[in-house]
Amino acid sequence: MSAARGDSPIAPPAAALFPERAERRRIEDYLTRALALADERVGAGAATPTIDMQAFRRELESFDFSSPRPLTELLDWSIAALERGLTHLTHPRHFGLFNPAPTFPSQCADRLVAAFNPQVASSGTSPAAVALEAHVIRRVAERAGFPAGAGGHFTSGGSEANYTALLCALTRAHPGFTADGARAFPGAPVFYVSKECHRSWVKIGHQAGIGRAAARLVNTDGRGRLSPASLERAIAEDRARGCVPFLLVASAGTTNAGMLDPLAACAELAARHQLWYHVDAAWGGALIACERLRGVLAGLERADSATIDAHKWFATTMGCGMVLIRDPAALGATFQVSASYMQSHERSLDPYMNTVQWSRRFLGLRLFLSLAAAGWAGHAAHIERALAQTAWIGSELERRGWTIVNDSPFALLNVVPPARLGDARSVVERVIASGKAWVALARFEEREVIRICVTHGETSATDLAILVETLNAGA
Ligand SMILES: *Cc1c(COP(=O)(O)O)cnc(C)c1O
Repeated sequence: MSAARGDSPIAPPAAALFPERAERRRIEDYLTRALALADERVGAGAATPTIDMQAFRRELESFDFSSPRPLTELLDWSIAALERGLTHLTHPRHFGLFNPAPTFPSQCADRLVAAFNPQVASSGTSPAAVALEAHVIRRVAERAGFPAGAGGHFTSGGSEANYTALLCALTRAHPGFTADGARAFPGAPVFYVSKECHRSWVKIGHQAGIGRAAARLVNTDGRGRLSPASLERAIAEDRARGCVPFLLVASAGTTNAGMLDPLAACAELAARHQLWYHVDAAWGGALIACERLRGVLAGLERADSATIDAHKWFATTMGCGMVLIRDPAALGATFQVSASYMQSHERSLDPYMNTVQWSRRFLGLRLFLSLAAAGWAGHAAHIERALAQTAWIGSELERRGWTIVNDSPFALLNVVPPARLGDARSVVERVIASGKAWVALARFEEREVIRICVTHGETSATDLAILVETLNAGA
């Protein structure tokens, strides 16, 4: 042994990082079983965190990484931390923000991707992965009503997708933007989005170097939808001040209330004012899966670009967004770069030359496996089920004197309780403290409301009854 050491100065692989095959298999089997048990416990336990964070911080402090610990022990420790320390998206009574319990095929995809760890920056290194993602995007774009030839790609989420669209819009708006940035424009570039929009748009203004004030938050019609008349006025005022309008964003599924902006009217307006037209359908875009309901999104097919998050109502694991682009040449124009060390197979598809990211994870397999295993019809059934459950919750609450204040075509209720139960805030606090369900407090048209979104594909009739009972439990 020592003689062999003498012959070769190179040590064997670090066993804790790269265990031998048999040991790996043992740990993998252990993990699979442990996760299944944890999932059962989560479903039967509290929907909200139960962890003592002070104790947890002390435990964390004990990790100074000076002495290695056995991996199975660490896996147990991690599962316990996650089990106690999260608001559980995988709990059947998580009526959450748009974050779902992930589909099983998408979880399988994550395991595959972790094992192969493909670098999806270029078609040269990962030709199959790049082609598969491009295929899924084409099918989704087609389903959204975009013309043949439309493109796009997977993103870390809706924020990156929106950011991508905004950069394309700026690049299209002025040929000097690529080289000189915002100062290429004769005045301050501004864009329009409703005041009910997702706040990623404000950050994106900053990120893109045009400033947060470039996001013009346009008034709504009093029912949570962008008002075309207010939009016209805002554009006229900005032009008069020397600003340069370049983009109009309509939301299909606002975050607070799930409202749908008038997509066709916005398309008209964008065309008339020569603005890039983007539809932020991060959550609501999943309706394209439903034959019966696709028409709700009429006007989406006229967009220059759209955001649809697979990790929202398509229920893949996080983060998995998509940006669809009518004319994919806009992506090349925006993200073009040359790097001698990058291999290329199909330049027009090379993610590093067409997207914000460089090194990238193989995200598309999640939606591919989900769609391939369930079909559009399987996803449609998932959506129809959520809609039916939402309607049931709404009618049960109305029967008990609650008021529904929004009018969303999606699976989202904004409700206010009858006076006897206290205000929205106190009800939400009570529900969350009970651990029996998770709902959110939100604002809709200047009013505090309880936001209930059906996000879990396995929520049962009993779960719904428990939700309604918990909401009505009183102080
Ligand atoms: C969720 C959401 C976003 C942000 O997407 P992330 O995936 O969280 O980055 C943007 N717009 C809308 C309408 C959303 O629902």
